[in-house]
This record gives sequence, structure tokens and C-alpha cells, in this order.
Amino acid sequence: SDELKIAVGAMELADKVVEQVMTKIDDVFMLPDETILNAKTIAEIVRIGYTRIPVYSEGDRNNVTGLLIVKDLALLDPDDNFSVRTVCGYHQHTVKYVFNDTPLAIVLENFKKGDGHLAMVKKVHVSEESAEDPSYDLVGLVTLEDIVEEILQAE
Ligand code: ATP
Ligand code: ATP
Repeated sequence: SDELKIAVGAMELADKVVEQVMTKIDDVFMLPDETILNAKTIAEIVRIGYTRIPVYSEGDRNNVTGLLIVKDLALLDPDDNFSVRTVCGYHQHTVKYVFNDTPLAIVLENFKKGDGHLAMVKKVHVSEESAEDPSYDLVGLVTLEDIVEEILQAE
């Protein structure tokens, strides 16, 4: 039955980790913070259709510094030519992070507690040089939708 499938899907959240359901970083639509929000770029962002867009700085997609919520664009005058950086600085939506190996049940709990139902996924960058100062790579993005899908699609 559908009810049984959903129950099984919910139980499987304990065994599955973020990496298995996230959107991989190469498929994540992000914007550089210097993007100018004119009529053309706003139309393009709206056309692409995502509600939340990670914003990166210094041309480095690994360096996500903000989140643009498409709703923030509604009251913007395209002729003001504000940058994405300016709009993000005004709204200051915090970016959440989770590790790639976090169980989905934990991510779901975090989403229930907080306001934003999206997190960037990071992974420890293994390098030979320094063991004391680990760095991180962004490997994807996960939303509540990805977890709900997992619950509903269990076999
Ligand atoms: P909403 O449904 O609230 O309008 P949305 O459609 O933008 O938001 P979600 O419904 O949360 O996004 O997620 C749908 C799918 O899109 C998920 O697989 C999620 O990982 C992916 N996704 C969300 N935002 C982005 C983005 N900026 N770039 C690429 N994929 C994204
Ligand atoms: P709410 O009525 O839920 O308080 P709001 O009207 O204050 O939202 P925003 O805070 O701009 O509007 O949020 C708009 C949408 O973006 C909401 O769906 C919210 O869940 C999402 N959102 C806001 N902040 C974040 C965040 N830090 N991470 C992910 N999603 C976020």
C-alpha cells in the first residue's frame, strides 16, 4: 500500500546520507555576487525557476557567501542596477551547511527546527600537506524536497 511505502521510506532515512539525494554541485544554479540585476538578468533568473540561489564571491564557486531568494527581486527596480551582493547584504539570508555523510533523518530534523529548507553540502578536502587545517569542498545542495522525494519513492 501507499501508506506502507511511505512508512518504509521514512525508516530508510536513517540509513541514507545527504550525498545520495543531493543535487550535485555541477548541476547547482549559482550566481557570482557581482552579477548586476537588470531587466535581462532578472528575467533569466526567473526563467530558470529556482526559488533559492546560492551566491558566491571572488569567482570561486566553492566560496558561497549568500543566498538570493527570488522573492527578493519582486520589489527591485531593474533600472537601479543593484548587484546580487547588495541585495544579499540587505536581506542576509543565512546559508546552512551539512556534511555529505550526514544521515537524512538528521537533516530532516535540522530543516524542521530552522527557517530555511535548503543547505549546501560540504565534504572534507583530503590533502597531503596540512592535517591540522582541513578545508572543505562544496559538493552539492540539498533541500527538504529531496528528502520528501526519498520518503515518497521508497520501494
Ligand atoms: P520551491 O519548490 O520552494 O519553489 P525550488 O523548486 O526552487 O523551490 P525545491 O523544491 O526545494 O526547489 O527543490 C527541487 C529540486 O531542485 C531539488 O532536487 C533541489 O535539490 C533542486 N534545487 C533547488 N535549488 C536549486 C538550485 N539553485 N540549483 C540547482 N538545483 C536546485
Ligand atoms: P516566512 O513567512 O516563512 O517567515 P518570509 O515571508 O519572511 O518567510 P523570506 O524569509 O524572504 O520570506 O523567505 C522566503 C522563502 O525563502 C521561504 O520559503 C523561506 O523558507 C526561504 N528561506 C528564507 N531564508 C532561507 C535560508 N536561509 N535558507 C533556505 N531558505 C530560506
